[in-house]
Amino acid sequence: MSFSATILTLYPDMFPGPLGMSLSGDALARGVWSLEAKNIRDHGLGRHRTVDDTPAGGGPGMVIRCDVLASAIDANVAADDPRPKLLMSPRGKPLTQGYVRELAAGPGVVIVCGRFEGVDERVIEARGLQEVSIGDYVLSGGEMAAMIVLDSCVRLLPGVMGKEASGTEESFESNRLEYPHYTRPREWEGRPIPDVLLSGNHAMIERWRHEESERITRERRPDLLER
Ligand code: SAH
Repeated sequence: MSFSATILTLYPDMFPGPLGMSLSGDALARGVWSLEAKNIRDHGLGRHRTVDDTPAGGGPGMVIRCDVLASAIDANVAADDPRPKLLMSPRGKPLTQGYVRELAAGPGVVIVCGRFEGVDERVIEARGLQEVSIGDYVLSGGEMAAMIVLDSCVRLLPGVMGKEASGTEESFESNRLEYPHYTRPREWEGRPIPDVLLSGNHAMIERWRHEESERITRERRPDLLER
């Protein structure tokens, strides 16, 4: 069974967007994963298919109605659907490589994309939505955040990345940032490739990479070393 993604959004035309290209796009075309984007507005109320209303208690902006979002979820996701239902939200559990691995190992995801001020709290509780954040900043909508969740999952699916190994050596996989990469030409604008990488001594190369990885992590992200 392939990884299947259902997106609930007010802007289904944004999908697949960048996910239709390169690695994720090739995998989509090959059926390694599947994607459907459903319009929440199809479940909107009245002639104008209204999906939002003003916040109870006052304040700026609009809130996506719980009844409308619940209808959209119920119409598109069977009650016994095994996939986790995620809600993109700056209040959510931070997306990490570990979390991505968990999601990628499962049957897929249902992702609700918020807009405006967000969604009525009651639908989060009633439909068991798991809030996920892609970082400590605020986007105007959940669609690009959903794409980030999908892109990071899809590249881990079996057969998506050319070389299986390249998934496990990268940044974050061992709470370390990656060592620097070089390729041809051997010297460029007076900058040579470090000699050790051209030495052919694999033990030395591995040690150098390990040390660089530690150094860069210490300099840039000391918080990772404490995890
Ligand atoms: N009023 C909200 C922000 C709403 S932003 C607050 O202060 O928390 C509109 C929508 O963009 C959100 O509902 C969510 O779906 C999406 N979004 C914004 N920032 C995000 C982030 N860092 N991670 C994931 N989704 C985000």
